[in-house]
Amino acid sequence: MSRVFNFSAGPAALPQSVLEQVRDEMLDWQGEGMSVMEMSHRGKAFVSILEQTEADLRELLAIPNNYKVLFLQGGASAQFSMVPMNLLKDKTNADYINTGSWSKKAIAEAKKYCEVNVAGGSADVNFSRVPTQQELQLDPQAAYLHFTSNNTIFGTEFHYLPESGDVPLVCDASSNILSKPIDVSKYGLIYAGAQKNIGPAGVTIVIVRDDLIGTVLPGTPTMFDYQPHADNDSCYNTPPTFGVYVAGLVFRKLLSEGGLAQIEARNVRQSETLYKMIDGNGFYDCPTEQASRSRMNVPFTLANAELDGLFLQEAGAAGLVTLKGHRSVGGMRASIYNAMPDEGIAALVSFMADFSSRHG
Ligand SMILES: *Cc1c(COP(=O)(O)O)cnc(C)c1O
Repeated sequence: MSRVFNFSAGPAALPQSVLEQVRDEMLDWQGEGMSVMEMSHRGKAFVSILEQTEADLRELLAIPNNYKVLFLQGGASAQFSMVPMNLLKDKTNADYINTGSWSKKAIAEAKKYCEVNVAGGSADVNFSRVPTQQELQLDPQAAYLHFTSNNTIFGTEFHYLPESGDVPLVCDASSNILSKPIDVSKYGLIYAGAQKNIGPAGVTIVIVRDDLIGTVLPGTPTMFDYQPHADNDSCYNTPPTFGVYVAGLVFRKLLSEGGLAQIEARNVRQSETLYKMIDGNGFYDCPTEQASRSRMNVPFTLANAELDGLFLQEAGAAGLVTLKGHRSVGGMRASIYNAMPDEGIAALVSFMADFSSRHG
C-alpha cells in the first residue's frame, strides 16, 4: 500500500489514524456485530455515537449552551438557502461580504428571498484579499451579516472577526472550521460542509444561537427549517450516520492532540513554511495579499505557465497529488487542512525547490 500526500481542496485528506480505526471497526463496531452504516439511527449504539460526537465538538469549540449543534445534509450550499429562510423573519435586507466564488453563490441564493447589500468585498482585485473592518459598509437594520471566513478557491482568509454590532454574524466556515480556536458567542450562526476539515462529504454542521431559530419564511420546506432538526437532536429524519461517526473520530483526534490552540500552531507553522518557500524563490508567485493569506489553501503560480502540466506530472510521480489550481485562478493550489502531516509540507517544499532549480 502506498498513500500519497493529497493536497485536494475537498473532499480532502483525512487523518490516517482515523481511516485505520474506521477500517478496524468496519465489520463490527464495538461488539455490535455490524458496521455503523448498518445501524438504526434511533438505536442505542448510534445515539451514543451522535451524542459523543456533539459533546466533543462542543468541547473543541467551547460552544456555549445556548447554541444548537445540528448535523444536516445538503452541503454548505443548502445553507445558502436555509440561512435566509430561517434568519430573515420580518426583515427584508441582509448584508453579505463578497470575497469570492462561494460568497457569490450565497449572495445569489439570498437574493431569492431578500434584498442583499454587498457590505464589502474584493471583486475589484480578483478576490486577492479580504476587506478590512473599516471598509465594510454595514446596515444596522440588516437581518444578519454573512461572510466566508476562508475563501477556498482564492486562498484568502479573515484574520479578524467582522464586528456587526447587534446584527447576527453568519459565517460560512466550510474550509477553516476547527483550524483555530474561535469565540462562538460572537456568532449568530456558523455552518460548514464536512468534506474539507472535518470528515467525509455528506455531513453539514450548523452551530446556531437558539433564539435565532423557530420562525421561517412562509413555504419553507420542513427539512429547511432548523427547528425540527434542533427539536429532534438532528434525527428529525435519518442523519448522515456514517459521516457523523467519522467526524466524531476526527474530533476525538483533535482533542487528543491538545485541542484547537495546538492545531492552530501547527497550521501557522505549515502555512508559513510554504509561503516562505514561494516568496523566497523567484520561480514561484503567490497571487494573494500578505495580510489576507489563507492557512488552509495556498495558491501559487509558476514563472512559466507552460510548465504547469510538467509540474503536476512530476509532483504526482513524487506522491504529491491534486495540486492543480481552481480554473478561475489558474496555476497551483495546495490545500493543507488539519489532516496534512508536516511530512507532506516538507515533501512539497523540497519538490518545489528541486523543480525550480531544474526549470527556473
Ligand atoms: C466547498 C465550499 C462550499 C460548498 O460546499 P458543498 O458542501 O459542496 O455545498 C461552500 N463554501 C465554502 C467556503 C466551501 O469551501
